[in-house]
Amino acid sequence: MSPNNIKVRIAPSPSGYLHVGTARTAIFNWLYARQHGGKFIVRIEDTDENRSDANLVQPILEALKWLGIDWDEGPYYQSERMERYKAYVAKLLDSGRAYRCFCTPEELERERAEAMAKKMAPRYDRKCLKKTDAEISELLGKNMPFAIRLKIPQGETSYDDIVLGNITRQNSEIEDLVICRADGRVVYNMAVVVDDYEMGITHVIRGNDHVTNTFKQIHIYRGLGIELPQFAHLPLILRSDRKKVSKRLGDKDVSEYGKEGILPEALFNFLCLLGWSPKDNREFLSKEELIRVFKLENVNPANPIFNEEKLVALNKEYIKEYQDYKLAEMVAPLLVQAGITTKYWLETRWEYLIKIIGLLKERCRRMTDFVSLGKYFFYSEFNYEPESAQKQFTAETKKYLISLLTQFEEIEEFKKECLENALNGLAEQLGIKKGQLIHPVRLAVSGISVGPGLYDILETLGKSEVLLRLQRAIKYIENNGG
Ligand code: GLU
Repeated sequence: MSPNNIKVRIAPSPSGYLHVGTARTAIFNWLYARQHGGKFIVRIEDTDENRSDANLVQPILEALKWLGIDWDEGPYYQSERMERYKAYVAKLLDSGRAYRCFCTPEELERERAEAMAKKMAPRYDRKCLKKTDAEISELLGKNMPFAIRLKIPQGETSYDDIVLGNITRQNSEIEDLVICRADGRVVYNMAVVVDDYEMGITHVIRGNDHVTNTFKQIHIYRGLGIELPQFAHLPLILRSDRKKVSKRLGDKDVSEYGKEGILPEALFNFLCLLGWSPKDNREFLSKEELIRVFKLENVNPANPIFNEEKLVALNKEYIKEYQDYKLAEMVAPLLVQAGITTKYWLETRWEYLIKIIGLLKERCRRMTDFVSLGKYFFYSEFNYEPESAQKQFTAETKKYLISLLTQFEEIEEFKKECLENALNGLAEQLGIKKGQLIHPVRLAVSGISVGPGLYDILETLGKSEVLLRLQRAIKYIENNGG
């Protein structure tokens, strides 16, 4: 096969949001397509009306776009392709690879319950396969409803999985599956085979929870006499409690990570490392680099654990790499949403924002940290961290702050070096350590005890703001008995 013909797909079912498992599958497919100059398509698997919610399609597509995944075709919708599936079901029926099953749901349920009671795997007993042509005609004449089942041949089935290697299952483990229900709805396994075949999918890359489906699908391919694609089953992502990530467990929409301050590039990079690695200890890999070095053959079949701490650490690296003006564009709406400042205020002070970004970016692990660690740059009515206030704001420090205020009032060029000299000079004059001044001053101007260098903060805030904040802290100490 020429590499240019490679065509892969992501086939989300809109029964939940795009969670990290499906997102990682999408990424691996996308990387595979992009590195081979192939095609990547999106197909919405909405055949199960009871479980599909049309309102979830858009959020799923938006989440893919947010992650930076684009597609060459689609989205295709299975619900719009029912007639095509039925044509293939008819072929299987005509060739004797499938048969009509007139068993009622009650009968099937009873048999299932009996098997379970005997602790046996419930399996269809092929009662309807034994029906004669005359019996079938009679039932059809009476308009009896019927489902269509695939006839699984005897023997065993093997295939070579790109990730799992050669795997074999006894055909006796698979019951004659229903491919079309009595109400005429074609089921997922049938629809997938028809789609993958008609859409020219060369590699089916999906979670290993689909291996059992793969064996069923192989029998459908063989029944139809069509060529199998290559299969690659990816390990499942486990949460820290070792349960697998799933919609059922309420795992969150991938876009939620964005709201929690994770950059899409960081999540993309991180998800690539869940089940695959470049084997040279590198972890920070750009999308371009990943397209170059990703190898489907090197996917590790062991289920990886989603370690959010590691994601956040990688996010920090991405924040550091980003240019300040780019970060400013992303931080501005966060500040506005948090009600800390207004769009107008920021638009008129863009340089100020960029400067603050530069000061904070080394410390931010999430984009939202720019807000929590930098809000004092935008308003002065903040509360002081209670524990730090108790420690730093005393009758003694009030005196220091008053002296420093006097010194600062005199400084004309409110620059880092001058501020540092003034503070050092005062500490010497008072016979105290620098820290005894630095900590209360930091708390007075920012309300918190961590942050960028104090002199950077002071210079950035500017003289009048610093003086006001020192006065406010002095008053606070007075009002609190200092
Ligand atoms: N619709 C299936 C899912 O959301 C994927 C099926 C497939 O990739 O073949 O898990």
